[in-house]
Amino acid sequence: MAKGMKAVILGSGSALPDPDRGNPSQAVIVDDEVLVFDCGERTTVNLTKANINPMRVKHLFFTHLHWDHMCDFGYLVMSTWNCGRSHPLKVFGPKGTKSMANSSVYGTHKADVDFVRGYIAALPPHITNKPTPDPAVEAVDIDVGFTLETDSWKVIAGRVDHHQRVGMPSVGYRVESEYGVVAITGDTAPSEGMIELARGADVLIHEAAFLEEIIEARQMWSHSGPAGAGRVAQAAGVKKLVLTHLGPYTSTDAAIEMASMYYGPRRGPEIWDQIVAAARAEFDGQVILGSDALYIDV
Ligand SMILES: [Zn+2]
Ligand SMILES: [Zn+2]
Repeated sequence: MAKGMKAVILGSGSALPDPDRGNPSQAVIVDDEVLVFDCGERTTVNLTKANINPMRVKHLFFTHLHWDHMCDFGYLVMSTWNCGRSHPLKVFGPKGTKSMANSSVYGTHKADVDFVRGYIAALPPHITNKPTPDPAVEAVDIDVGFTLETDSWKVIAGRVDHHQRVGMPSVGYRVESEYGVVAITGDTAPSEGMIELARGADVLIHEAAFLEEIIEARQMWSHSGPAGAGRVAQAAGVKKLVLTHLGPYTSTDAAIEMASMYYGPRRGPEIWDQIVAAARAEFDGQVILGSDALYIDV
């Protein structure tokens, strides 16, 4: 495995179904370690799309537990275990993460867990690369200020502004290594906390869930537009800004119709240039439009 640090957008889409973009998820790779941040719909598939074996994931961090950021969790756990995962999956996220993880694996997937346990127990003796006898998920609740450090990387959780007042604890993350720094917002309004967390980062992966005009019109103050993301990137002094959590503006008619309450009618392909331009107007560094399985050098 190549030495170095990379960020990978796994799902660049919004909370809504979009055949062109998976729900939010991203990975940070430090040497041969794969850290995954959020686990929205299609995360496991898009790891394989990025040519990353999902079995390599040992650490999964949630920014918050909205469904678009966690609905592939059970699939990641079960499919990696079923394929022989022999290490625990360590899971971190705001209050409620431990409960979600355990109820997903041992509640929702109880029949699967019983099935795979039986299948493992019945494996013939010559099969030596057996999975762990149980799904091996170790989940803990964390909060702002949490840090996890190994010899090769450090993850820090910081404050963002996303529906905390209505009981949805949320954090952003900063990943440091000898190679550089990647910051990840999850969902947030343009936030002072995120500016601090992303200070001097090489790469800032910032949500741009809605256009500024939609945020204004619908008063969706817990999300960002591309201009807001650009202002945060500028204030934090980062080098590259990656825009993600993007709407299905140019997707299939069915996806656009379902999303129309939030995203309005179909847009022409120029919408993507407009989104990038809105961020560029606020930020002197490089602006990158997220897409699924996109690698970003750190
Ligand atoms: Zn979201
Ligand atoms: Zn959210």
